[in-house]
Amino acid sequence: MVERVLLAEPRGFCAGVEMAIKSLTWMVNIFEPPVYCYHEIVHNQAVVAAFERAGVIFVDDITEVPEGSPVMLSAHGSAPEIVAEASQRAAVMVDAVCPLVTKVHHEVKLMAKKDYDIIYVGHEGHDEAVGAVAEAPGAVTLIDPDQGLGSFQPKDPGRVALLAQTTLGMHEWEGVLDDAAVRYPELITARRSDLCYATTNRQTAIRQLAQEADTILVVGSKNSSNTQALVRVGRKEGTPSYRVDGPEDIKPEWLEGSRVVGVTAGASAPDQRVREVIAAINPTQGDSPLALTDEDEYFPLPPMLRQFVKILQTVVEAAFAVRKPNLPGPIEMDPEHSATGALDLLGV
Ligand code: SF4
Repeated sequence: MVERVLLAEPRGFCAGVEMAIKSLTWMVNIFEPPVYCYHEIVHNQAVVAAFERAGVIFVDDITEVPEGSPVMLSAHGSAPEIVAEASQRAAVMVDAVCPLVTKVHHEVKLMAKKDYDIIYVGHEGHDEAVGAVAEAPGAVTLIDPDQGLGSFQPKDPGRVALLAQTTLGMHEWEGVLDDAAVRYPELITARRSDLCYATTNRQTAIRQLAQEADTILVVGSKNSSNTQALVRVGRKEGTPSYRVDGPEDIKPEWLEGSRVVGVTAGASAPDQRVREVIAAINPTQGDSPLALTDEDEYFPLPPMLRQFVKILQTVVEAAFAVRKPNLPGPIEMDPEHSATGALDLLGV
């Protein structure tokens, strides 16, 4: 019988995912369905299913978007040619790329322009890695963190840059970094790393959780890179750790003999699923937070969407003579709203 659930804080939605989910919610509220989205808006089954019910069609090929349709590009960042094609086809194109992914795209372009050989540490086929590598395919070598540098050979060992997918496990990134720093003493890399604040905070929290829990459940989908990284970090710390999309995935034998169960969630997993998982565990003494740090990052809605909503607001105010000067409009009010609230309305 599980006595207690320890709930990691921070867990779940990061600022990039908040922004992306709220952006797509705006799109389905503004436009008649279908609204198209290139790639899953975030890598989570429940979120994708909720938007499909609301009239979103997810595509992996941008040419499937009919000319003149509204389209959104996912939070993971898209290749430049996809952005160009989407802008051409769509009536309205909103790129919901996370600003921290955009930062890595800029680094790729900058280093390629300076004629560096770029090692990009990431997972082959992952949307974020595909988008980043596409910024300068001739200059970038994708290295899987499990494989390491292997036979990588730069043109000039004095001009090598090391960049990374934002959602890797810290230990995976550090493994490649240590090796590269020895091989290439003049290695250029991001000041701390490209791993984002949400990735590092959630991994630090699960390390702490692993000290106090007998078993850990990580809520998130199979194709969520940061969720999978959390599972690996929990296991590396020696605590049995399992990924679940929701309560339906929990195997009773995982919890046998566990008094304290740790629960956390990947950056794209809705809190609604976390609450359902806790309810299914049904701890006799309830749940309590294991708080490590506060997160107050906020990423504004994409510029194109902000502009579009402002125009709509102006038109509606003019038509109905409801303009009240100096009152905040929906864009100014955005920080007050959460993606969790938006998903509640969509029935997650
Ligand atoms: Fe952005 Fe990090 Fe969230 Fe990815 S995990 S969307 S990089 S904040």
